[in-house]
Amino acid sequence: MRAGGRLRLRLRMRSRLSERIAALHAQRESAHRQRFRRTVLRREGVRCEVLDGSQSRWLLNFCSNDYLGLSQHPRVLAALRKADSAGSTASHLVCGHDAQHAALEEALADWLQLPRALLFGSGYMANLAVLQALLGTGDLCVQDKLNHASLIDGARLAGCTFKRYPHADAAAAGRQLVAHPEGVAVLASDGVFSMDGDVAPLPALAAEAKRHEALLYVDDAHGIGVMGAFGRGSVDAAGLTVDDVPLRLVTFGKALGGAGAALVGDADLIEHLLQTARPGIYTTALPPAQAAATLAALMIVRSEEGDALRHRLRDNITRFRVGAEARGLSLRSSQTAIQPLLVGADAEAIALSAALEQRGYWVAAIRPPTVPEHSARLRITVSAAHASEQIDGVLDALTEANAVR
Ligand SMILES: *Cc1c(COP(=O)(O)O)cnc(C)c1O
Repeated sequence: MRAGGRLRLRLRMRSRLSERIAALHAQRESAHRQRFRRTVLRREGVRCEVLDGSQSRWLLNFCSNDYLGLSQHPRVLAALRKADSAGSTASHLVCGHDAQHAALEEALADWLQLPRALLFGSGYMANLAVLQALLGTGDLCVQDKLNHASLIDGARLAGCTFKRYPHADAAAAGRQLVAHPEGVAVLASDGVFSMDGDVAPLPALAAEAKRHEALLYVDDAHGIGVMGAFGRGSVDAAGLTVDDVPLRLVTFGKALGGAGAALVGDADLIEHLLQTARPGIYTTALPPAQAAATLAALMIVRSEEGDALRHRLRDNITRFRVGAEARGLSLRSSQTAIQPLLVGADAEAIALSAALEQRGYWVAAIRPPTVPEHSARLRITVSAAHASEQIDGVLDALTEANAVR
């Protein structure tokens, strides 16, 4: 220390991880933001036996993403059982790429009438993969404010300039593209928004992307299998082609009833992803049996049986919406299987969910940060597998639980 200089205290101190964790825990508790898991013992269609302390009880599931009930379809389960190996034993690029994977990629491209498909372990990983493989420093990613968390994380991982536009505002997306003219640009949107159920303005987004030379990427996790001709999804339903949407995400964990995902689209883009996308390269390939099960589900989805299931789903959505209106429940405008009932306060959403459970219905309360602040909600999902009386039943339970507002 210099003579006469002021004593410099060492103010920078290592933080204690345990203290931080305890503080965040207390904060979550007081804000009703603790998350917990329910253990499912058995699934029989939309009926689930869940663990409840030392006992168990049967609940009717109204929060799964199994929109067509394919997770337990006999042909899907039969495909799963045919496996000769529990795992793929390596990544696709080493020795994990099985005939079942190749067949599924081919069937996806054929079904969606697109040049090529590439499998990923999950939709989350595929979204990290796309944005990290296509964008870097000096590039731009423009996204809807309500996009799925994996798209947001993907843009952060890419290290690009990241802009979010107000929900479903294609003109605002265009303005953000204009404001950042340098580098490569990707405009990314959910096809169907996962917590709201509304459909993105895809034709308007495609026009903005074209005008400003950006690539439009659509995450169709909730559109695939349930929208468009042969269940080809929201891009097909909007009448768009691979020229408008060169790349899209298809996930297998929702309407297809399984697990995993694929990026489907332009052949050069797909080849680039195969060569460079780290979340695809440095990970074990999906179990071949899972690919076989998804292929079986895909064949059902694109068949007449798939049409019948989509018809049944539409009837159930209509029954739910008409019944909700008759009972004074105010839903949002969603026409898809995702029918959120906005509550607002976290504690109230939890109380409503608990009241429904007492009546035998399982509807999870969705709270921030999954949804914006002050917009906690019950995310009710309707499935083709629900019987009409079950739809009426959950509506009656909602009315009794005082969800009318
Ligand atoms: C569920 C979901 C994902 C993630 O897909 P997983 O296969 O479950 O990882 C990505 N995007 C959207 C919009 C989703 O709803």
